[in-house]
Amino acid sequence: GTGDGAILECRGIERRFGGIVAVTGVDLVIQPKEIFGLVGPNGSGKTTLTNAITGFYPPNVGTVRLGGKDITGTAPHKVATLGVARTFQNLALFNGMSVLDNILLGRHIHMKPGVIRTALYWWAAQREEIENRKIVEEVIEFLQLESIRHELVDGLPIGLKKRVELARALVAEPKMLILDEPMAGMNQEEKGYMSRFILDARAERGVSVLLIEHHMDVIIGICDRMLALNYGEMIASGIPREVVKDPRVIEAYVGG
Ligand code: ADP
Repeated sequence: GTGDGAILECRGIERRFGGIVAVTGVDLVIQPKEIFGLVGPNGSGKTTLTNAITGFYPPNVGTVRLGGKDITGTAPHKVATLGVARTFQNLALFNGMSVLDNILLGRHIHMKPGVIRTALYWWAAQREEIENRKIVEEVIEFLQLESIRHELVDGLPIGLKKRVELARALVAEPKMLILDEPMAGMNQEEKGYMSRFILDARAERGVSVLLIEHHMDVIIGICDRMLALNYGEMIASGIPREVVKDPRVIEAYVGG
């Protein structure tokens, strides 16, 4: 479709690693407040595509636009300040730190170092800190993490760790949220909670979501549209209920 008004628009993305073509010819257009699923067997290029978007591994070919602005090749920290937050397949929480402190870290991209350092502007720093706290408290309440806020993240069950990571992404107040297998290792009940939180984040906080997920029931349950990759190429895209029945998608999962 057209990229007009899209929050994210990737065109003709290709990324190579040495001789390996990790993704090629990928188009991905996500509209504001859309929840968009990305599926494909291991090694099909899902992570590479998100790394191309977030600047970790810029594309060799193609363009990435965020809210109409070309951000191709922009450094990861800059992409974050422009409104893209992500969670990682392998959790990236800081052990030895509390739930609250891990979440507070997600606010750091909003801190203006000059303001913090200059004593003259202490009041500006104060105001910023109050704003940080307010958003962090909102998100803690939203994700129902109040009762464990002072616990170390180390010993938490996977479902709660994933929720803390979602909280840390949300306090950055992103326009675009990229979730890399947020339900990996979860039981049915935990998956239900996480699905609900993602839907509520869209409804209450207005985010658009790119969701990498292997659980097809989750994709069908919460995604508006989806894209399937295999060997770095697009094999099907559209409405989840239809895409999951596509013979190429079934073949990729069964045969791959
Ligand atoms: P997925 O996320 O779907 O499992 P990936 O994007 O991780 O797939 O991998 C796609 C292909 O790119 C694989 O062949 C993988 O080995 C390769 N690849 C991904 N990242 C790198 C990297 N940093 N260096 C070399 N090869 C990579």
